Amino acid sequence: MKKIKIVLSICMLYSALQSHSQKDIVDSNFHVYLLIGQSNMAGRGLLDADSKSLNPQILMLDSLGQWVAAADPVHFDKPASAGVGPAISFTKEILGNNKNIKIGLIPCALGGSPIKVWEPDAVYLKVFHPYNDAILRAKLAMQKGVLKGILWHQGESDNDSLPSAVYMRKLKILISRLRTDLRNPNLPFVAGEIGYFNKMDYINPVINQLPQQVPYTAVVSAKGLADKGDHLHFDTPSARELGKRYADAMKKLQTVGNEAKPMTRLFAKIKNVPAKDPIVILGFDDAEISHYTIVAPLLKKYGFDATFFVCEMPWKSPADSVYYMKWPQIAELYQMGFEIGNHTGHHKNMTKLDREGMQKEIGYIEARCKEYGIPKPISFAYPGNRADSLSQVVLNEMGYRYGRQGGSKYYDPKQDGHLVIPSYTMGSAEKLHERTWNALKNLQPRQILAFTIHGVPDIAHPDYTTSVEIFTKFLQYMKEHHFKVIAMRDLGKHLTSD
Ligand SMILES: [Zn+2]
Repeated sequence: MKKIKIVLSICMLYSALQSHSQKDIVDSNFHVYLLIGQSNMAGRGLLDADSKSLNPQILMLDSLGQWVAAADPVHFDKPASAGVGPAISFTKEILGNNKNIKIGLIPCALGGSPIKVWEPDAVYLKVFHPYNDAILRAKLAMQKGVLKGILWHQGESDNDSLPSAVYMRKLKILISRLRTDLRNPNLPFVAGEIGYFNKMDYINPVINQLPQQVPYTAVVSAKGLADKGDHLHFDTPSARELGKRYADAMKKLQTVGNEAKPMTRLFAKIKNVPAKDPIVILGFDDAEISHYTIVAPLLKKYGFDATFFVCEMPWKSPADSVYYMKWPQIAELYQMGFEIGNHTGHHKNMTKLDREGMQKEIGYIEARCKEYGIPKPISFAYPGNRADSLSQVVLNEMGYRYGRQGGSKYYDPKQDGHLVIPSYTMGSAEKLHERTWNALKNLQPRQILAFTIHGVPDIAHPDYTTSVEIFTKFLQYMKEHHFKVIAMRDLGKHLTSD
């Protein structure tokens, strides 16, 4: 029985990892580790032939929040200097001959970061939020796997008399926060000594007190490890040896009695489910002119609500202006009672923007809304359905309650974060039509389906057109089957605890 279970869950893990359109399932055989600290955790050793070898049992969470095969450089904090760190050798040592588990690395170390920036909301180098981002990425990882421990290598930036005097206090607070935020009071935490080749050694004696001060912690020695010639960074063989030492310490801590507590999921704050009738969330993207001329009047006829995710789509030529609504028309949709959602100012791929770029694009629509008497949007649709962890952080910070992406699956509030609500996209291709129609027909009570719809019809993007005839067929079906057809903003009102 147990064996069947393991095989089953590994199969599920495979499929979940291969396609994020499938249901997220926390697999107890997928063990994830959070890597934090500064450059020697990130890795600065020179890449070699061994760096390229891949092991199907080892994955890493990339900068876009996707699980990919792990190889050095595992980190991406400074792409120009990222190299070999302790992560891969740590993982190999943890795995040993165990073929039943997979390991996922969550790289979050940032070269040069002092411990004072590893605090909630602290900013490092203007764009990084070391602590917030680590928590966010760890929680993302915990949607798939079980967090088994934290590796911390940091101290070079605090290796002086004053910073080292307050270091232990800060480290204790950090560990306590991490364990609270990651919901595991006994989460193993392994720190490492900094290299003995550093000029001064204020910090190692402090780090070495950790196991006496905080339960379920360990410190690994850096004795005998060499630098790459800069008196700061471990060379490649030393970084790998350090990784093995981390693994030995981690294994010991885990046998001491770490019990993985039930984990919560990133942003899955909505714990409720639809009361009874199936829910359909209608979302119309790109401010197509047909939303004003055709969709809105049709929806009114059926008594359905919807969200119009607007942007100012860049035109290829001035003649393209006829394809899109003008702001007074968007304002009219709002006055008719529909929700106006944010689709970025200029239909930007969020995963290609930095924090500032995201804020600018999101803020652009908010400013236009204000100008036209439309309330600040609380619902967001990712252009091209592309979301990453940073965009979720920024949306959360800017007060967005809902974010919608693609994925072609129903939205399960207990599984999916409310800033990455999956949706089905309508389009002209037969396959797309079949998929969306089946999604609607198979929708059961207590389930939620979100649709992404473009123009009805869509003159500017024929691939994403929906004919009035087909659209009416959908509306008719939802009416006849008493589906609740809502705007995204009202989702909370239709869910109930149980
Ligand atoms: Zn779009």
